[in-house]
Amino acid sequence: MLHDAAVLIGRNAAGHGVIEWIGPSSAARQALGDKPADITLSLRDHIVLPGLVNTHHHLYQTLTRVVAQDSGLFDWLKTLYPIWLGLTSEAIYTSALTGLAELMLSGCTTSSDHLYIYPNDCRIDDEIRAAREIGIRFHATRGAMSLGESQGGLPPDKATEREPDILRDSLRAIETYHNPGRHAMLRIGLAPCSPFSVTTDLMRECAALARSHGVMLHTHLAETHDEDAYCLGQFGMRPLDYAASVDWLGNDVWYAHGVHFNAGDIRRMAQHGCGVAHCPTSNMRLASGIAPVRLMLGAGINVGLGVDGSASNDGGHLLAEARQAMLISRLLPMTDSVGQPALGAYEAVWLATRGGAAVLGRDDIGCIAVGCSADLIAINLNRVEYAGGLHDPLAAVVFCAPRGVDFSMINGRIVIEQGQLSTLDLPRVIERHNQISRALIRREPIT
Ligand SMILES: [Zn+2]
Repeated sequence: MLHDAAVLIGRNAAGHGVIEWIGPSSAARQALGDKPADITLSLRDHIVLPGLVNTHHHLYQTLTRVVAQDSGLFDWLKTLYPIWLGLTSEAIYTSALTGLAELMLSGCTTSSDHLYIYPNDCRIDDEIRAAREIGIRFHATRGAMSLGESQGGLPPDKATEREPDILRDSLRAIETYHNPGRHAMLRIGLAPCSPFSVTTDLMRECAALARSHGVMLHTHLAETHDEDAYCLGQFGMRPLDYAASVDWLGNDVWYAHGVHFNAGDIRRMAQHGCGVAHCPTSNMRLASGIAPVRLMLGAGINVGLGVDGSASNDGGHLLAEARQAMLISRLLPMTDSVGQPALGAYEAVWLATRGGAAVLGRDDIGCIAVGCSADLIAINLNRVEYAGGLHDPLAAVVFCAPRGVDFSMINGRIVIEQGQLSTLDLPRVIERHNQISRALIRREPIT
């Protein structure tokens, strides 16, 4: 960690904000040469960190918090599916603004999202519009459900789509939006929802489509014992073996949860370079279990953090998720079979930054380094929450009660100053969000 450091940020030819120089504050003026800075910011008393990376979310679920409060995953889903059937294009857009605002205020500068239900006029374009307006770096994954109850799946038939429509719209999203370039603000991935809501055909066809266009693949896997039982009953295999059977192994694949991966699964994922989105709060909320993160990291698997959807968190605070990851790791034996201890504060921040970037297939974010994207956050340490912890500032922001960031820059653009989001009229969005939420929960039309 550097003290009294300065960071110089410039714009590259494509207009992306990029870190150009890092060094002691006293040398910054000299590093600038005879070119004066457009803006100089003093972040005295702040800790500056790379922007955090969220690897799993369902932004629309921000509309349906605190529903099915005491259910496990399958009952929770069965309660929520009928409510989500009321979603509209405006609901997707508004909830994305709300959920992304919450994430950004907690330090997130890059988020993925997994939108897998498309009733009424909903489209993935709705959340992409929100991400562009609010200014976050965004990996939208075109999710899908195609296996309804009548075919042995979990969701009601009405919540599913026809597979040709899913594939057509997936291709459209890739061709319309995907930017594979360095410092990209928007990428697309393909994300059939889970083993119990799509067919094996769709899993295979999405894998082929993604690979033919160089986009990543994402799905829920090994989340609960119920899912293990479903896969054994339906396919005669455990979840990772099922994923392998439909071509879902590779460094272009990341799974959400991975709570119930065993030692053999972990070795196999490491061999193939698969990534995992660890979602500790959601796993506690739904009583799913504790993911073996230490074993995955020990095997060399890329692990990032995910807040997961706000119906199973029920918040979108990514710095708090780093704290949860650190704390829950201590409920497993304090050392693993090769004697590595539970997660510490530095590793928790690593998961939330470098780990998440690697899971999303990126080496240009999650790091304050020359040539990386200018995604930076800062937290003022002169707060009651950190009093007494300033001898180790990085540990303080993980161990102490989590709070929001005071400053955030994404792609060289300041999006939060003095704790306030500057890209959105947040109170107005929250008001509309709550109107839509009320209608959905009451199963009334959104007006
Ligand atoms: Zn999820």
